[in-house]
Amino acid sequence: MQCVRCKGRMVTDYFIDIENSGELWMPGWRCLVCGEVVDPLILRHRQVQKNNAEVPEAVTRPKRKTIPVGASRG
Ligand SMILES: [Zn+2]
Repeated sequence: MQCVRCKGRMVTDYFIDIENSGELWMPGWRCLVCGEVVDPLILRHRQVQKNNAEVPEAVTRPKRKTIPVGASRG
């Protein structure tokens, strides 16, 4: 997968969802170059935006508490 910001390489990463206790580990994407994070919910929102009206991402992007687990491994 290619990063939407810097066209860098993105790798699969897992995130801990703090707010939703029912789904603790979520697979997502993280950019090795700029650190851009894309989790499943963000992807879902982007797909909805394509189908619906053109809304700036900054407005609709959810502010969720996710921690990139793989980032702390060194
Ligand atoms: Zn990037």
